[in-house]
Amino acid sequence: MPTYTANTKDMQFVLHDVLNVSSAGLPGYEDMDRDFTEAVLDAAAKVSAEVLAPLNTVGDTEGCVLENGVVRTPTGFDRAFAAMKEGGWTALDCDPEYGGQGMPYVLATAVGEMFVSANMAFNMYQGLTHGAYSAIHAHGTPEQKAKYLPKMVSCDWTGTMNLTEPHCGTDLGMMRTKAEPQADGSYKITGQKIFISAGDHDLAENIIHLVLAKAPGGGEGTKGISLFIVPKFLVNDDGSLGDRNPVSVGKIEEKMGIHGNSTCVMNYDGATGWLLGDLHKGMRAMFTMMNEARLGVGLQGYAVAEAAYQNALAYAKDRLQGRAVTGAENPNGPADPLIVHPDIRRNLMDQKAFLEGARAFTFWGAHLIDRGHKAGDAAAEGLVGLMTPVLKGFLTDKGFETAVAAQQVYGGHGYIEEWGMSQFARDARITMIYEGANGVQALDLVGRKLAQDGGKHVMAFFEMVKAECKAHEGDERMKPFTDALKVASKQLQAAGMFFMQNGMKNPNAALSGSYDFMHLMGHVCLGLMWTRMAKAAHAALDAGATDTAFYEGKIATGRYYMARQLPACGMHLARIESGAEPVMALSVDQF
Ligand SMILES: Cc1cc2nc3c(=O)[nH]c(=O)nc-3n(C[C@H](O)[C@H](O)[C@H](O)COP(=O)(O)OP(=O)(O)OC[C@H]3O[C@@H](n4cnc5c(N)ncnc54)[C@H](O)[C@@H]3O)c2cc1C
Repeated sequence: MPTYTANTKDMQFVLHDVLNVSSAGLPGYEDMDRDFTEAVLDAAAKVSAEVLAPLNTVGDTEGCVLENGVVRTPTGFDRAFAAMKEGGWTALDCDPEYGGQGMPYVLATAVGEMFVSANMAFNMYQGLTHGAYSAIHAHGTPEQKAKYLPKMVSCDWTGTMNLTEPHCGTDLGMMRTKAEPQADGSYKITGQKIFISAGDHDLAENIIHLVLAKAPGGGEGTKGISLFIVPKFLVNDDGSLGDRNPVSVGKIEEKMGIHGNSTCVMNYDGATGWLLGDLHKGMRAMFTMMNEARLGVGLQGYAVAEAAYQNALAYAKDRLQGRAVTGAENPNGPADPLIVHPDIRRNLMDQKAFLEGARAFTFWGAHLIDRGHKAGDAAAEGLVGLMTPVLKGFLTDKGFETAVAAQQVYGGHGYIEEWGMSQFARDARITMIYEGANGVQALDLVGRKLAQDGGKHVMAFFEMVKAECKAHEGDERMKPFTDALKVASKQLQAAGMFFMQNGMKNPNAALSGSYDFMHLMGHVCLGLMWTRMAKAAHAALDAGATDTAFYEGKIATGRYYMARQLPACGMHLARIESGAEPVMALSVDQF
């Protein structure tokens, strides 16, 4: 069975050496010194290893079952959920006014990485609740907040997000679920939603469904959509549970991975709901949480791969197969361990260099969200908004690729369920699809985000990369980083220029290159992260850090990324500059 041990050391490195959170001076960051974050991370690591990880395979093999209209989760999930609530892990960054601990989002993100690595399917029950909590917190009336939030913060009640319908996923303007206004101010919600994560289960007393539906008078397309609170059990004014709302589970979907999470068809048959936020502004309300939600899925992409990598590494050190080309390294054994072979090294270095870069990128994104929320830093908010599709699309594509690479280290054993590597690949796959499929992330990046606010966020990003390179001019040790980053950044700018020059007269020219642009920008972001990490590692060594293996390893891993991964930017640029013609050349009949 696979194991998982949280890499708290690397998390501390990113939080303190790279992001300098203890001196960030943000409201809510007052306690963020090394000792405090270490205590939180160590405690979360223990829960991850002892409570969550042992249930990962159980969740995969048992899955969820629909019995008499109620979903039963896999064996042990109820006890683990109770332990998470008991430990306050569901409330980490929630508002203290509603029972939360008010910790920075960046710290909750680090803890979230561990929980996802240990058991992604399980963590989704809480993750979806957090999303619904954020929506009610941002858009609810004081009465709605008082009624729902304390129970959601504690996870006595969980939450769901209901957007998708059988005929519409990406194109929500075609939504059919209806909301009819009632005399008492409530609405009757009628329609079918599909693929609803954690739609029903036996872990909580109540489930608060957030449902997008069309109320009269809103017009066509997404403009007419509103957001509603639809509880499984109606909640009385004194907070006690009342009648069962007519919301039912049609079926549980059979799916490729995350078997421990119930993905439900939900039928709303005149269910009572209450408007959340403004009428006909439901899409806008959903969008305010988009950055966090998409960063959360990006995190899932690499966090599952982290667990896969750890197991692949252990296997590569243990499995004896073949001899090192430069002479036996295990002369007393029948063969050398896999890790002596350069191609296995390449594979493991690809994984390690991506994972550490992805962690830094994600924590940086979370820190920017904190800057936006806690300090009203509009530039930080603009920057993270620009990078959100990259965090989601690039990290999940590469996360899946990494999980498959880890599986490859096992050879045939990776394909056999017994070793657990197949589960990592299957679980990671969904992250590329939900919360906006990755092709749509690329569309959002190129079609919307680049030009947003007159292009000022992308210009600020380019300036930031330029400043980072300039800051290390003359430092020979940093040359492998800054030289590669300069080239990649110029390629990204050239791609942006190509879109500007060609996109207006032929939108297909921009959209044919959008996916490559998302990856090109992902590499530049990770190149920037590796430059910052190398700088931090050199600084630690210069200051006499004793753990030289960690810091020297960090620098060497960064050099690998710059030498072996960043050159992909040139390929992406060449594809982008080939324009629409090669992509659109065939008529539909010619396929
Ligand atoms: C396990 C699982 C859990 C889920 N959980 C939830 C949940 O909790 N709540 C919820 O509401 N939904 C959930 N979903 C739904 C998920 O978000 C959608 O499946 C996803 O958004 C894509 O919608 P779709 O499946 O209808 O695909 P479509 O919209 O039909 O898209 C199909 C393909 O076409 C591409 N595409 C579509 N439009 C364009 C365009 N204009 N330009 C370029 N490419 C385009 C997409 O990228 C995609 O690759 C879940 C799905 C799964 C499988």
